[in-house]
Amino acid sequence: MAAEHDGERGAGEPLSILRGGSPEAARDGARPGPPVIALDVGGSSIKGALVTATARLALVRRVPTPATDEPALVEAVVAAARALAERAAAEGTPAAAIGVAAAGVIDESAGIARQGANLRWRDTDLAGRLEAGLGLPATLLQDARAAARGEAILGAGRGAGSFLSLILGTGVGSAVVVAGRPIQGAHGLAGEIGHLQVDPHGLRCGCGGRGCVETVASAAALARRYLAATGDALRAEAVLERAARGDRVARSLWSDAISALATALAAAVAVVDCDLVVVGGGMAAAGPPLFDQLRSELVARISLAPPPELAPAALGNAAGVLGAAAAALERLDRGDVIRSWRALPAPARGLDGALGADGGRRWNT
Ligand SMILES: [Zn+2]
Repeated sequence: MAAEHDGERGAGEPLSILRGGSPEAARDGARPGPPVIALDVGGSSIKGALVTATARLALVRRVPTPATDEPALVEAVVAAARALAERAAAEGTPAAAIGVAAAGVIDESAGIARQGANLRWRDTDLAGRLEAGLGLPATLLQDARAAARGEAILGAGRGAGSFLSLILGTGVGSAVVVAGRPIQGAHGLAGEIGHLQVDPHGLRCGCGGRGCVETVASAAALARRYLAATGDALRAEAVLERAARGDRVARSLWSDAISALATALAAAVAVVDCDLVVVGGGMAAAGPPLFDQLRSELVARISLAPPPELAPAALGNAAGVLGAAAAALERLDRGDVIRSWRALPAPARGLDGALGADGGRRWNT
């Protein structure tokens, strides 16, 4: 196991920035604060970093997510957090709290990971296990909400009171931000439009439903449907390239994907009445073919209000880590630090390399 946790990369800030407090935060009106440990547990990797009081990411790490069973998964998360805690302590700047963003159905109030499509959660008391293992307060968030929180504070949602955050990758993740905060709902599923049914006669979805947005509009769905229709195993981005060259099957599948997204987004916009949708995830790299077509499909579906602005997410793969860090700071009652982040320039996208993004070459992230 130990070797798995040795995935530290060099793109984060050097450890030296952890020493001597945080003069920038002090300048912006926040008291200097200790770093927090922030993790983002996804289906393929666990990303982690120490996040300073000036929203810098130090000791960026990425290790594979164990796919075997729940104990191995929990152990990997605890070990990733412990490795960061030990490095911070060795520098004389011990971390004060842990924030964890995790994929799946997450009960944020209880700190429990209920279940996951790709992760073996089984009503897992992940926050409790981290607190027991490291002796630090731990806060658990659902990953789409964590990313929305990051974008709300430091990214494309900054300054918007309410917006929808959509993450298009292997799956379709989403969250709704109201008054600057992602809402959770009764079951931790508020704003989860990926599992809205858009075709009652459609394919079975991993959630148990049928014809969900995710079965039509995710990168995995595009690739799977193209394979079923043509026998050609292509990645989703290659399907779009074929669509651009006039391939009829690819064009039809892409059009179905945009239509499903627009239908679900229009419903969500009708509920929230927001004027911004922030679009992230690997598929956002498609650029104009995604944004222009989605915009025109939304115009066709929204009559009473102006259609929302569609904006690309600004933080890339750092959004979830930064959102998790904000939750950890909130647990420490350091709202002053979070408020100071709102005045900072957006972090450089260069972090994506260390956090596992693909520079737009691959959509399944
Ligand atoms: Zn579904």
